[in-house]
Order: sequence, then structure tokens, then C-alpha cells
Amino acid sequence: MQEFNNCLRKAEIGSDEIGLAYANRSACFFKMGMLQECLMDIEMAKKFNYPSHLMHALNARVSKCKRLLDEGQINANLCKVREPVLSFNEHEEYPGVADCLEIRQNDKFGRHIITTCDLQIGQTILVEEPFSIARDSRVDCDRCLGCFKYAQNFIACNNCVGRCLHCNEDCMTNSFHHIVCNSLIAEEYEEKIELIVKTIFSAIVAFSDIDRLMHTVELLLDGKGTSDLTNAHLILHFVHVVVNQVSLNEYVKLETGSRMDFGFFLPYAHGMYPFGCYMNHSCLPNVCSMSVDNRLICKVIRPIKKGQQIFRSYLNPSNLNYINPLTDRKLDVEKQLHMKCECNLCSGDAWTMLHDKSLKQSPFWKDATAAANMTEKAFRALSNETKEYYENRTIKFLEMYDRFHPLNDTLCVQWALIVMWNVLATHF
Ligand SMILES: [Zn+2]
Ligand SMILES: [Zn+2]
Ligand SMILES: [Zn+2]
Repeated sequence: MQEFNNCLRKAEIGSDEIGLAYANRSACFFKMGMLQECLMDIEMAKKFNYPSHLMHALNARVSKCKRLLDEGQINANLCKVREPVLSFNEHEEYPGVADCLEIRQNDKFGRHIITTCDLQIGQTILVEEPFSIARDSRVDCDRCLGCFKYAQNFIACNNCVGRCLHCNEDCMTNSFHHIVCNSLIAEEYEEKIELIVKTIFSAIVAFSDIDRLMHTVELLLDGKGTSDLTNAHLILHFVHVVVNQVSLNEYVKLETGSRMDFGFFLPYAHGMYPFGCYMNHSCLPNVCSMSVDNRLICKVIRPIKKGQQIFRSYLNPSNLNYINPLTDRKLDVEKQLHMKCECNLCSGDAWTMLHDKSLKQSPFWKDATAAANMTEKAFRALSNETKEYYENRTIKFLEMYDRFHPLNDTLCVQWALIVMWNVLATHF
């Protein structure tokens, strides 16, 4: 599918290749059980000069699709994905935020987030849309550059060199594509510049006119803040764009047929999240960040008491899988985050605990690590009940032994849970 998307980006405008790319991509959608998408791509192929002597093959695929749809096989694969939902009511002021979270400020932590009730492992406390977002420079084209959904009926812009792919005109407008279309930014891709440009444009749109925007900037520079989180936040971000951006990562298998916990995470986009960006960093976080299309999701990975601060890790989630020797790791953290970390791990307090004890004798150990030992394919094939069983046993293990965290064993089970959640939330 990636190859056909690439073909769409690079094919000469008006050539047969465009029709062929749509037609071949429709075959991928068919194989994946995404029948509606398959039919849409066949329509596009016909619109874009698909050779008439090959048309019988496309028509046969249309009939097969329609027959399967009549039998009720509607996007079988898509139904299995777990859509992220808040475990609490939505906050009155902040969209996508659980109503138990509040922003606080003090000298030590600056602005930070606390919870007003006890939180349990597995609860979802953030499902936030970005204020602005830009793709990672390493990502090719298998996500829409507007909504960052995966495997959609992407269309190519008709004006660009190395054309960008979007789901439709709406996504193209939302991603401010007309601003970067055929510009240097699109050719010599630099995500930080794009993120700044998009943040500024989003700001202008949010303020309706440039005078109001400038007035707010002046107030802020004078230290007279505004209570509006979105507006105040974005001004701060103009200045701190590099530090405050949140990376969206996707789970990648090491190789086909390898165990699920042998995977790693790669960034595909970087965004500005009005609320999420106020969560401080810890190398021993109590929530994990996940990404579903353009949204930032935070799920609780350690029990959190009422009044405690929420910490997520700013490092690539793969760092939660293993802990390097203390000095290497501290250097690594400083290099990646441009800051010194004072968490329990970096200050050395928790470091000595890592090898203290083995929990492999626990009656919960086998179930808690069972899913992680499977291949992704085998895990996906399980019934929903079995998947939930393994998820719950993993959570139970982490709740029971939280007082020992961080042991290598608790870190390993935490990693298993994070990988499991990521696989459950994505199609492929
Ligand atoms: Zn889109
Ligand atoms: Zn364009
Ligand atoms: Zn740290």
C-alpha cells in the first residue's frame, strides 16, 4: 500500500499511472477487508484514466465487494480497533480532558497537572486534539497529513512536486496545505519550521483578526495573562516550540513473526497539545502517552493518589522497555530533552532497586507476560474476552507489585501493557 501511495505522489499529472495506483491500492483494501475503501478507490481509478482493456478485473472486484457487503462483512478489520474514550466526564473548560485533572502552578514545577481523585491503572485521562500538527520528516506518505489517519483513500494534491497525500479537501484545508504547497518547506522538509508556521496560522484563525492576536501577545509579554488556555498556550508555544511539541509515535514490529514485546516506537508527527503539554516529564512516569491518528492519549500506568502530579515521559516510549546504566541514561535524557531530569531514576534513588527482587515466581507472572510473548498476529486473532483477560491480569500484576517499582520485572510488564494497548488501538 505504501508503494502505491508513493506512486500517487510521484506519478506525472494526467498519466495512466494515477489510475493504476488507485486500482492496485483498491486490491490492498480488499485484502484488508476494508471494502468501502476498496470501492472508493475503484471509483477513483475509473475517474483517472484506468486502461479500458483491464477494466473487467476492476468490475469483478466491485461485484465481489458488493456481495461481501450484502453478506454483512462491513469493514471487518476496522471493527476490531479500540477507539480511545475518556474514563471520566469531559472537563468543562478543556476539551478531551478528564474532569478530575487540574492545572496547578508552583516554583518547583511551574505549570503542572494534578488529579483531584485517585486514579487506577488502565484509566484514560486524556484524548486531546492538537492545536497544530506537522509530520515527522522521516515519514513517507502512509498517513493523511491533515488528520494523520492511516490507510485511507488518500488523494494527491494536483500542484505539488512530490505531492502530499490527504483523505480529502477538508483534510488538505485543515493541514494548511495551500500554504506549504510547492514551497521550499514541502521540498526540503523541516518539521519544526512547518510546526511554527502552522501554529502561527492556527493562531490567526483562532483570533479572527491579527489586532486581537497582537493585543494578547502584548498582554502576555507584560505578564498580564489571559485565562483562555488555548490562546495563552499558543503564544507560549511560539517561543518554546521545540521544547513543548509532543511527538506522536506508532508501534512498529521488529520483524514479521517476532514477539509483540520485541517491537519499538517511531515518531510520525509532532503536535501542539494545549493541555497535554503541561504534563511534566519523568523517566518513571505514572501515565503513558499513546497516539491515535492526530490525537494524544494518556493512560494511567501506575496507581495515582488524589492530589498527586501526573507525569508522562517525553522520551520515545521504547525507552520504557529497558533502563540503561545510570550515567549513560542521564546523558541520553539531557541530550534528547535539553534539560536535566530530577526524577527518582535520574537522581539515583530508584536506580538501586532495579535488580533487587524477582517477581517471576508470582502466580500472576505468566498471564501478565503471555500477550507480550505472542506474535502480534496471534494476539489479534484472540477473542475480545481473551484479550481483556490478559489485559486485566497485566494490570492486576502492576497494581499488586507497584510498591517494588522500578524492578526490571515491573518495567517489563509495564512495557507489555503499553504494547498491548497500542496494538489494540491500531488496525495493522
Ligand atoms: Zn485526513
Ligand atoms: Zn500541494
Ligand atoms: Zn529522569
